[in-house]
Amino acid sequence: MERYEADIVVVGAGPGGYVASIKAAQEGMKVVCVEKEALLGGTCLRVGCIPTKALLETSLRFYEAKQVFHEHGIAFSDISIDLKKAMKRKERIVNTLSGGIAQLFKKNKITRLKGKARIISPSEVAIDEGTVIRAKHILIATGSKPAGLPFCEFGKRINTSDDALAYVECPRHLVVIGAGAVGLELGMVWSRLGARVTVLEVMDRILLGFDGDMTRKALKAFEAQGIEIRLGTKVLAVYEDDEKAVVEVEGQKSIECDRVLMAVGRAPNTDGLGCEEVGIAKDKRGFIVVDNAYKTTVNGVFAVGDVIGGLMLAHKAMEEGVMCINGMVGKYAVLNYDAIPRICYTDPEVASVGKTEEELKAENREYKVGRFPFKANGRAHTMGYVVGEVKVLADAKTDRLLGMHIVGPRASELIALGGMAIEFSASSEDIAMLCEPHPTLEEAIKEACLAVTSKTIHL
Ligand code: FAD
Repeated sequence: MERYEADIVVVGAGPGGYVASIKAAQEGMKVVCVEKEALLGGTCLRVGCIPTKALLETSLRFYEAKQVFHEHGIAFSDISIDLKKAMKRKERIVNTLSGGIAQLFKKNKITRLKGKARIISPSEVAIDEGTVIRAKHILIATGSKPAGLPFCEFGKRINTSDDALAYVECPRHLVVIGAGAVGLELGMVWSRLGARVTVLEVMDRILLGFDGDMTRKALKAFEAQGIEIRLGTKVLAVYEDDEKAVVEVEGQKSIECDRVLMAVGRAPNTDGLGCEEVGIAKDKRGFIVVDNAYKTTVNGVFAVGDVIGGLMLAHKAMEEGVMCINGMVGKYAVLNYDAIPRICYTDPEVASVGKTEEELKAENREYKVGRFPFKANGRAHTMGYVVGEVKVLADAKTDRLLGMHIVGPRASELIALGGMAIEFSASSEDIAMLCEPHPTLEEAIKEACLAVTSKTIHL
């Protein structure tokens, strides 16, 4: 049996685990990171953020070549997609970035061990029953896995997001169950590549957690691109045979299709981790319970990222990793959850930071609203992307920015300004007074802030 001694053993090398490992090494700790997969980077890098964005880029270019380039006077006689090549490109990106993390581990002298880890005591982790690592601290960053519906099993045609990132041919008809970011992004990929896409959502809205008013605008834009979205639609059963999959829906005709993507959420990854044996408490849904220093119910054992629930986002996991280590070494360790942006990378992109209007109403908080549409923004016209708007919410008395919500081009990049403003407690007037470069999409944020306290210039 091999034995290691460390200051901290990190279980899982996703965004939470690999960032925490680097941070701990930078703080002078001796770090061992255990990951069961060959590639470092977790869900985010292997089957999440990065591969979806790679395929969204590929599919956008294909779609634009077919539908948009002619407006620029660019003509093609024959446009086709080589899916095998597109998937190779995606894999190359994943491998390159994963190799980058391996380099960072090397640079920071982090010991990487491959295998499935199990916590055997508050200071010991075993790998595949062989190796044992003894450490002062254990950090659980084991992330999450695709959740299903209780009445059906994943199969050849009933798929997870992992499967939908690797189809070898474009489905004829893809039914997506769940209109969250994962379902909508992957639905858009395959719609642009030629599939008929039907999204079924049990709620009366898409993108729960985003500002409702903005998601209605996005919904219209998605439908205009040919994606069918059925709201208030309850799925009763899903089954498959060799030829097809069938989705039974309450009060509607059953849908026959060739693929079903289950995008109904994710479940924490704690199978075989040893939580029960050492007394690490979980909540009703199976997420590991932590306090605000990311301490579990067992002294010396910490947890961050998807496995503790909350927003299931890579950047949230990364920052929790940093804050958890900061706390261990006595540094500032408070993460401002109000300033964490949420993004759906569809076209138009949907991005949100801070409070939504629904949340402010529920809190009985008085607020002011400023809006500015991209159709009044010069840069948006040059790009050919004029759908959507910026909406800002500011405190009625103090003018402090409470929320920023964007539907439109590059919303994923623009929202950073909102996050920074909230983090620095800026007012909408502060942003309205910025001299934004022209022509840029940021000007729409300035104008939306102008609309809160005075008047927009360009509308
Ligand atoms: P994970 O990334 O899940 O990493 C956990 C790691 O632990 C895994 O590598 C796993 O193999 C390992 N592990 C688990 N158990 C053990 C064990 N017992 N022993 C050893 N290793 C173990 N988020 C965004 O912010 N932006 C996006 O655009 C985005 N897009 C997404 C698209 C898709 C299709 C999906 C599925 C998710 C997306 N997410 C996105 C969410 C993001 O991927 C997760 O929030 C993030 O990966 C969570 O990081 P984590 O470190 O907590 O866990």
